[in-house]
Amino acid sequence: MSKQKYLVMNIASCFDCNDCFMSCKDEHVGNDWMPYTESQPRHESRWLKLLRTERGQCPRIDVGYLALMCQHCENAPCLNAFPDCITRREDGIVLIEPDKARGKKEIVDSCPYGAIYWNEEKNVAQKCTMCAHIIDSGVQPCKPRCSHSCPTDSIEYYDIEPEEMAKIIEEQGLEVYRPELGTKPHVYYKNLYRFTKAFITGAVVDTETDDDVENVSITLKGNGVEETQITDYFGEFKFDKLLPGTYTLEIDGKTVKTVELDKSLNIGEIFI
Ligand code: SF4
Ligand code: SF4
Repeated sequence: MSKQKYLVMNIASCFDCNDCFMSCKDEHVGNDWMPYTESQPRHESRWLKLLRTERGQCPRIDVGYLALMCQHCENAPCLNAFPDCITRREDGIVLIEPDKARGKKEIVDSCPYGAIYWNEEKNVAQKCTMCAHIIDSGVQPCKPRCSHSCPTDSIEYYDIEPEEMAKIIEEQGLEVYRPELGTKPHVYYKNLYRFTKAFITGAVVDTETDDDVENVSITLKGNGVEETQITDYFGEFKFDKLLPGTYTLEIDGKTVKTVELDKSLNIGEIFI
């Protein structure tokens, strides 16, 4: 297989500045990049949209942002449904051919990620092209605009052999979004747990002094997990990457709390 194009988005380093979204608009609104795509409408179409999730309860919360664009699937439902007007290039980029897709609004519903938008003015279905017009031009920096503009380098672009990509996936613990769809995306996510998994957090407090207690060994057990942490300066602990289920917290071998977890939970203070 020839070199393949991939995008990798790091959820932990995205701070919702929306530069990626704005640069996608800047590149594609008012510009026809034929034969790749016609211009993107100024409003409504979000070829890249930042999904947001909030975990925990105040004051122990975190917020994660996931940049969702066309996932350039190897097993693309859109292509399977409309092989006459959607193509997958040898380098992995999936494109909707504007002239062949004109008037076919039903293409929008063929993407399980909701990544295809209807352009009313042009009468055509559209989506992220991975900025193939830039990549093919060879003009430096030869990468998609959203990747180029991200100030925290949260969207990386790769043009590499699948074997090299497999190593990066392994080394960085990359995952695909919604793997149950079986679409084999060319967009990967780092720290996807910030979107898909839950945490249990809280603090250990001294009953007599009412002070936070540092350096307490606390163990979480249950649902196939056994992990021990040491409380920090504020007496706090945070067990993350958890699936729903029943968990117990132990200090000095004694159960101090049992938790039924279905979403991230700040259990507050544990008095010892
Ligand atoms: Fe097609 Fe949607 Fe996959 Fe993109 S994300 S290739 S539009 S099915
Ligand atoms: Fe938009 Fe290009 Fe990024 Fe796709 S790769 S979301 S078209 S800027």
